This record gives sequence, structure tokens and C-alpha cells, in this order.
Amino acid sequence: MENKKPIVLVVDDQPGIRFLLDEVLTESGYEVVTASNGYEGVEKAGVLHPGLILMDMKMPGMDGIETLRKLKQRGQGDKVIIMTAYGENEIVNQALEIGAFAYLIKPFDIRVLCRLVKEHLPN
Ligand SMILES: [Mg+2]
Repeated sequence: MENKKPIVLVVDDQPGIRFLLDEVLTESGYEVVTASNGYEGVEKAGVLHPGLILMDMKMPGMDGIETLRKLKQRGQGDKVIIMTAYGENEIVNQALEIGAFAYLIKPFDIRVLCRLVKEHLPN
């Protein structure tokens, strides 16, 4: 009897963040997939249909807002929690308007992140 774990996709250009979130969320019982940029994020989201997407806003190439728009076009914009720096109110408002359902201000408490993930994607 195989128990299918819900999939969380982490999109961030910083390897340290990807590593941390992968470790913590895997430990919390999720199947974690990471992407280091927006293109990869959109591609993996299209293939894997994650239950939740944690996405950085400041990324080289396609930024978080553009990536979020692409995800929305594919019907996955409402699966996104954005991660952004303190003071980026404009970006937060824009992201919420596009369809992201929550945001985390970096540096965030990892327990807050876990709680938020569990709340929206119970496992
Ligand atoms: Mg970044």
C-alpha cells in the first residue's frame, strides 16, 4: 500500500534556501521538488502538478511576478506562496492580485513556513 505524499515545488535561485526548504519539508512528510529559476519552475509545475509552490520573487532572468503570471495562465497561480524581502510591498500586492494566496518575508521563521504549508496542504 503506497502512500502518496503531496508535492511541494520550491522555486528559488539561492541554493541555500532550496536546500533548507527541501530538508525541512521532506522531514515534514512532503515530496519536495526544487527549481533554481522561473523557467524551470513553470516547467516542473506543468509536469508535476504540485499541491503547493513556494516561490522567490527576486530571481535572475524571469522574475517572480513574471513566473507567477505564467503559472496563472496554466491555472496554477492560486497554488503559490511567495517569498520576498522586507519592504517589497509593491511586489507583495502585485503577487496577491495575480493570485498568490500568501507571502513570507525573508528571513522567515522556518516554523511559520511549515505551519503555512501544513495549513494549505495537509498531509
Ligand atoms: Mg532570489
